[in-house]
Amino acid sequence: MTTRLDQLVGLARKNSLWPLPFATSCCGIEFMSTMAAHYDLARFGMERLSFSPRQSDMLMVMGTIAKKMGPVLQEVYSQMAEPRWVLAVGACASSGGIFDTYSVLQGIDKVIPVDVYVPGCPPRPEQIIDGVMKIQELAHKHEPLRRRNLPEYQELLAKYGIE
Ligand code: SF4
Repeated sequence: MTTRLDQLVGLARKNSLWPLPFATSCCGIEFMSTMAAHYDLARFGMERLSFSPRQSDMLMVMGTIAKKMGPVLQEVYSQMAEPRWVLAVGACASSGGIFDTYSVLQGIDKVIPVDVYVPGCPPRPEQIIDGVMKIQELAHKHEPLRRRNLPEYQELLAKYGIE
């Protein structure tokens, strides 16, 4: 039984996340499988993929991210609707993976805040779904109504140079 407004809003957010896939390489293939009929991410209320940052609240980063793409990723993140969550899918997005080279970003948390990391190279669809369910839990139970007004959140964004 929902008794508080923030719990009600959390429940609605949890079951209507709009994902923005940011897929650059092989982990993106696992995402396609996650969205297809067998694993069917739509069961969680999120069949509506958005390719517009302004109409999405869960950024799923999948694949190797070159350092040159860092500013693009940050721009995409800053254009997303609040509250927004970030899922780093796979070893490359989480830490650079096997590509410890001059040109590869060693984890997207160098340029944007990450909420949940999904391990694996590539992670199986079940692991991606598990990561999504962790985001759902954050959205439902741990997200204040207006996170953007929290000093800690503003501090975090300032650390990344995001306004
Ligand atoms: S984590 Fe592995 S599967 Fe995923 S993008 Fe990197 S190399 Fe490819």
